[in-house]
Amino acid sequence: MNYVRKSKVKYIFITGGVASSLGKGIAASSVGLLLKSRGLNVIMQKLDPYINVDPGTMNPFQHGEVFVLDDGSETDLDLGHYERFIDINLSAVNNVTSGQVYKNVIDRERSGDYLGATVQVIPHITNEIKSRIRKVADIQKNVDVVITEIGGTVGDIESQPFLEAIRQMRIEEERGNVLFIHLTLVPYLEAAGELKTKPTQHSVKALREIGIQPDILICRSPKPLTKGIKNKIGLFCNVVPEAVIEDLDCETIYEVPLLFHQEMLDNLIVHYMNLWCKDLDLSDWRKIVNKIKHPSESVKIAISGKYIQLKDAYKSIMESFIHAGVENDAKVELVWVSSEDVKKNGADRYFSEIDGLLIPGGFGERGIEGKIEAIEYVRENNIPFFGICLGMQCAVIEFARNVCGLDGANSSEFEPKTPHPVIHLMESQKKTSIKGATMRLGAYPCILRAETRSISAYMEREISERHRHRYEFNNDYRKTLKSKGLVFAGLSPDDELVEIIELKKHPWFVGVQFHPELKSRPNKAHPLFRDFVKSALEHKHSRFAKGKISKPNENVISDGLKESTTNIENDKSI
Ligand code: GLN
Repeated sequence: MNYVRKSKVKYIFITGGVASSLGKGIAASSVGLLLKSRGLNVIMQKLDPYINVDPGTMNPFQHGEVFVLDDGSETDLDLGHYERFIDINLSAVNNVTSGQVYKNVIDRERSGDYLGATVQVIPHITNEIKSRIRKVADIQKNVDVVITEIGGTVGDIESQPFLEAIRQMRIEEERGNVLFIHLTLVPYLEAAGELKTKPTQHSVKALREIGIQPDILICRSPKPLTKGIKNKIGLFCNVVPEAVIEDLDCETIYEVPLLFHQEMLDNLIVHYMNLWCKDLDLSDWRKIVNKIKHPSESVKIAISGKYIQLKDAYKSIMESFIHAGVENDAKVELVWVSSEDVKKNGADRYFSEIDGLLIPGGFGERGIEGKIEAIEYVRENNIPFFGICLGMQCAVIEFARNVCGLDGANSSEFEPKTPHPVIHLMESQKKTSIKGATMRLGAYPCILRAETRSISAYMEREISERHRHRYEFNNDYRKTLKSKGLVFAGLSPDDELVEIIELKKHPWFVGVQFHPELKSRPNKAHPLFRDFVKSALEHKHSRFAKGKISKPNENVISDGLKESTTNIENDKSI
């Protein structure tokens, strides 16, 4: 058994039961933040049971956002929560999928590593899983605690090897070095007027059948758990009532660590695992939560994209607006507008009463013309604009068509025969036919030009941002677009790649080829999001001064969403 390593590292495993979408990622991140705030060196990891090697080839409707790390790995959106809560930069080892595990074992079998053996789920697959869990602790010095979240829900066929692997770890590691936390749902039945514990009992029973006795239960619930309920859950699930932690629905996800602390979850973990650490100081975090819950004013910003029916596709963008709101002491109200509806009904109907427009990243042709129309509207009406990746590319197309008179200008992604491919396939992409992990991915440096909105936001000449794209600005058009007022505010160090465009004669018009939303943190809003929200607030104030502010036309927005008829299931473009 040479893979067993008795170490000082402690392992916390977080499983989920009863239903999906209970907020396992947030619960795991909150545990991470509490332990980090007690002075421990914490690292987070997610195990995803699907067979894809990574989520990069999945449609956002299947999976939500793909979170790209500095090293270019395409990962689960929960890694975004980990980075934001713990304020760390993660890497490929922090997200493991069944696809990666099986691929590695099969490759090793082909190369003869297991000669003579029958390769099986136990022990070969489970050994591979365990070695990847232990490997996380090796990438950083002095890791105290590894927190590993197991994707899916207990009872799923595909997550069984992961659960079996963590069961084995409990025996292999020293006593007290492995802790199991199980997240369940305690629903409230209106008709009975009661909270119900049976789903939790069944979920824990399923776990115990495979040899895992949870140490702590985190119970998501719409109402507070009474002492009686905690006692009952404790009795039937074989845990002490103090280890039944209430996880109430709350106003903001950033409040969850505070609620867990109130329930003494960190004390319990520290006690169970015999962790030596300092007392907790959550005062900075508390300030952030306070700002989120009690902003001085609000501002309306529209997001126009093609995946707006599934908000998870834009998770990091939504979080970045919360962070930018904190720094501007304002609540950012997001107004979701389907770009296809803009095409159908005209931009004026959707954008006349908003104070900023963000066009996010995306793939494929659907909805593009609506985005271009939306950008034309905000450019002409001096409404702040922020374009991210595809959003920046659309801004270039709009400018080329409507300001430079380049009729039919387009991206060759949407119109291969366009007379003016102002956006075209990157040279490095021309040779790739394989789809997985072949985009321009991860962190690249970018040099900012003087006297731009970008440099005044970042206050640095060289920045680093994360990318995920195949197309880029076509340098054949640099001269023409520049002569008409497009500013190339950020370029790659060799001047070859346009990374940021701006417009001078506009209150705030910025398009970026990268994904700034991936680097925003609650305690450090991304500078571009921060300044975009600031300029949206200025726009709102100037509208107010001109007496143009009226009651927002909510119906128009929901109308727009209802009218969206696209068949999203069959959309193969990611
Ligand atoms: N589809 C565009 C490209 O590949 C934009 C990608 C994105 O927005 N992430 O370049």
